[in-house]
Amino acid sequence: MADSSNVVMETVATISTSNPSNVDNLTNLLSNASSGKLMPAADDYRLLQPVWDLRFGHEAMLASPLFPIAISLIVYVVGLVPFTFLDFYGKDWTWIQRYKIQPDRVVSWPPVRKAIALTAWNHVLYILPVSVAQVVWTPDTVLPDLAPTVWEFSWHMLAALLVFDFEYYAWHLIHHRVRWLYRNVHAVHHQYSSPSVWVTEYLHPYELFSIGVFTTTSPMLFGAHPLTTWIFLQFSIVISIDDHCGYDLPLLPHRWCPFWGGSIHHDMHHQRPLTNFQPFLNHWDRLFGTYCPGQRAGGVKPKALTEWEKKPDPIFVMEYDFGQADAPSAAETTKNK
Ligand SMILES: [Zn+2]
Ligand SMILES: [Zn+2]
Repeated sequence: MADSSNVVMETVATISTSNPSNVDNLTNLLSNASSGKLMPAADDYRLLQPVWDLRFGHEAMLASPLFPIAISLIVYVVGLVPFTFLDFYGKDWTWIQRYKIQPDRVVSWPPVRKAIALTAWNHVLYILPVSVAQVVWTPDTVLPDLAPTVWEFSWHMLAALLVFDFEYYAWHLIHHRVRWLYRNVHAVHHQYSSPSVWVTEYLHPYELFSIGVFTTTSPMLFGAHPLTTWIFLQFSIVISIDDHCGYDLPLLPHRWCPFWGGSIHHDMHHQRPLTNFQPFLNHWDRLFGTYCPGQRAGGVKPKALTEWEKKPDPIFVMEYDFGQADAPSAAETTKNK
């Protein structure tokens, strides 16, 4: 056994010198080899270790409180690009237009420009000072040696998702039901009854702040690893973009997961603002009677939506008295005459 341990130790020394990122996994291997086990125990090997080890050489940047904020902004802008491209260049492409949830609502430049202006304004006036304050007052993130196990990563992601989803559901419901809060805070977001990706962060600064608090504290509640926290932040941004994309594309999660809200769920919330308050899933909406089946690709109403509209008191409320940023559909124009 001594010979095999020596072989392992020599291998470790060689690989560690050539690639320091393998040190943690190899250290486990070494300790197991010393105790007579040539293979690492299942609870020692971490599948995400190679990803986490990419931090070497970038520790100062990653530990900065600015890192999650900067990466969130980058992911947000990059996530908007493909849908913006489809909105502006795909107007004549029937293959993509047939996936639009509200095909009669064309995304035009003025409302997008308005959304960009508010998003930029929010970032300069609120996100930037909060970021500076974080650099001054928040300690650097502690970067542990080991990556989370796949089990820790998975359940922390799921738990954070469920907590955030419930927190925002409650926040959202209250900000629709309490008229003062709707009028002074959430009505900003509802200036768009046909969302495009740029509406995702077309928010009152207080709503943006609330969402920021919910997303950062949800993984914290479970003592999540920094890698899990960062991935959860980006995941929540990507899902929010999906919510507002305006397309019922194949392979999006709502197509195969019955409890996923997604674009058709949230698009209906912008059409009928007293329904579908849940941001990511739909179980609380179903449980508390605020669920409305979503309109599908090409504006097709599924049977469930037709049935829902036959209910004695369907919720058709459209609160346009606080201003509408996007052009109304032909049906709305006729209705408002
Ligand atoms: Zn929205
Ligand atoms: Zn709302």
